[in-house]
Amino acid sequence: MAEDKHSSTDLPYVVTQNAEGQRKQPKRVRLDIPFVLLMFMVGIACAKQLHKFVLRRSNCHAEKPVHLEDYPLPPHVNSSYCPQSEAIFPIVHGELNAKLEKLYLEESFQLKAFEQLGRVIRVPSESHDDLRPVGEDDRWNVFGDLHSVLESTFPLVFDKLKATKVNTYNIVLHWQGSDTTLKPILLTAHQDVVPVEPTTVEQWEQPPYSGFYDGAWIWGRGTADDKGSLVAQLITVDALLRNGFVPKRTIVFAYGIDEESSGLQGAGKIATYLEETYGKDGFAILVDEGGGYLSQDGGKRILAVPAVSEKGYLDVRVEVNTPGGHSSVPPRHTSIGILSSLLTHIEAHPHVPALPRNSTPFHTTLCLASYSTQLPSELRRVAFDAVESDEALERLRDGLLARDPIAAAMLGTTQAVDLVWGGVKVNALPETASGVINHRIAEHSSVAELQKDITELLSPVASLFNLSVNAFGKNVGEGGAGDLVLSDAWGTALEPSPVSPTLGSGPWKLLSGTIKATVQGGEEGADAVVIPSLGIGNTDTKSYWSLTRHIFRYTHIGPEDMRNGAHTVNEAIRATSVITELRFFTKLILNADESLLL
Ligand SMILES: [Zn+2]
Repeated sequence: MAEDKHSSTDLPYVVTQNAEGQRKQPKRVRLDIPFVLLMFMVGIACAKQLHKFVLRRSNCHAEKPVHLEDYPLPPHVNSSYCPQSEAIFPIVHGELNAKLEKLYLEESFQLKAFEQLGRVIRVPSESHDDLRPVGEDDRWNVFGDLHSVLESTFPLVFDKLKATKVNTYNIVLHWQGSDTTLKPILLTAHQDVVPVEPTTVEQWEQPPYSGFYDGAWIWGRGTADDKGSLVAQLITVDALLRNGFVPKRTIVFAYGIDEESSGLQGAGKIATYLEETYGKDGFAILVDEGGGYLSQDGGKRILAVPAVSEKGYLDVRVEVNTPGGHSSVPPRHTSIGILSSLLTHIEAHPHVPALPRNSTPFHTTLCLASYSTQLPSELRRVAFDAVESDEALERLRDGLLARDPIAAAMLGTTQAVDLVWGGVKVNALPETASGVINHRIAEHSSVAELQKDITELLSPVASLFNLSVNAFGKNVGEGGAGDLVLSDAWGTALEPSPVSPTLGSGPWKLLSGTIKATVQGGEEGADAVVIPSLGIGNTDTKSYWSLTRHIFRYTHIGPEDMRNGAHTVNEAIRATSVITELRFFTKLILNADESLLL
């Protein structure tokens, strides 16, 4: 056995605190109000504190609006920092839209819609991390039950549209348009839900798979994520079919089966099928689940936040291998001790959040500064200054970070040491010890940059323990006491997604205009601002990059429409939000059919 290169007992601490040239923490400025939008985007209910400012300036088309310190712009005024589209109401299909708006208000229609969702909720189509491929694991069979329910609930839809089952349980619905020169649109959702933790069943006010409508809420796992959207799409198609709509532009719906786990059996297979069938870049626009909306000014102003990009992903396995032996003659550091030093070193050096001007978070911040009371006036002013001033940009970044820890997840790569293994017997030296660190990669970074970063961070520590280093398949350091191996733990590395265009983009205008029309056509006097945002988690869209550049992750639902968020006990949605979703999907389909923006 080789001797330890170093004998200092305080080695890990010296290493942790003295590593040079590595990630440095930015200094933080304390500001008071929580970054509510970011909280919303990870499902935490938003604070309702609104701030009254005095309107001082209305012309904001012109020069830099540094005078915007008092009151945010109304949605119909166009800030050059965050241009807003006009609402788009169907015109060619105007009569049909009006007829359906009326239909959706009928009580009998609404009760039927709530029961249709309830039926789908009652099938526990759970997704598990350890599912084997379809055909090799009986737990997929429940999706067959779900298909029976979908087909019997929406017989007209499955009769009139061409249904293709991809990899047995994924559903692709094709609604042929009369004009084959037009690129189809793609609307997606997922059939699976996260499992209900058995020990929490007692905490549910209604059984988790009841689909119960209590007069205000529809209860059950999947109501908020994502069966509410799936069913709203199918009810919309059903209503359109019954009212004589014949599409000009082909519409495709795709429903995966494992969004809540790997996506490999679901969207991964669907993506191959869709690319083979419709070609690369074969769709004009894709709308999947994602960021919803916030409301302020008592619901008169909606801040809709479709995600135009998503963070990347990398699970890094850190494995230390050292010689074994009897623990009566131990070395100073076992593989477990060395691994602990490495993990401590990682935690002591979080990634530095950044706010590049060309990033989605900067764009989001400028939009909030222009239109929203979610940011305090001081920070809004800093945001406008940050368009040109580097010093203001730094202050803005620090200000956002100081307001809420979630901002760090928006602005930087995150790391979480989530798994650890080591040792088999108390009198045997552990020959191997390993841990896995989950990373969500910032929009401005990449898998390669993260790999380089963690290699450079850990190599000096490995060298202190006299370990060889193999980082992501390359030998990058020699040592005699064992080795450190860094690898992609499950081969699931994912780059940050491409950013869907917004400025001057037809598909973005179509989505924004449709959201605005849905809001304006709802509550009297309400209007919406549509703000591009970054998704900090991943959706099925990670498999769909090749299908279109215009991918938007958006669910037309507000925080007050969800009783307790998703993925937890008492998942329930406000029944009327199903109707609002129908109104959104109806306008989206009708607008896409007649608009020249796609
Ligand atoms: Zn989902």
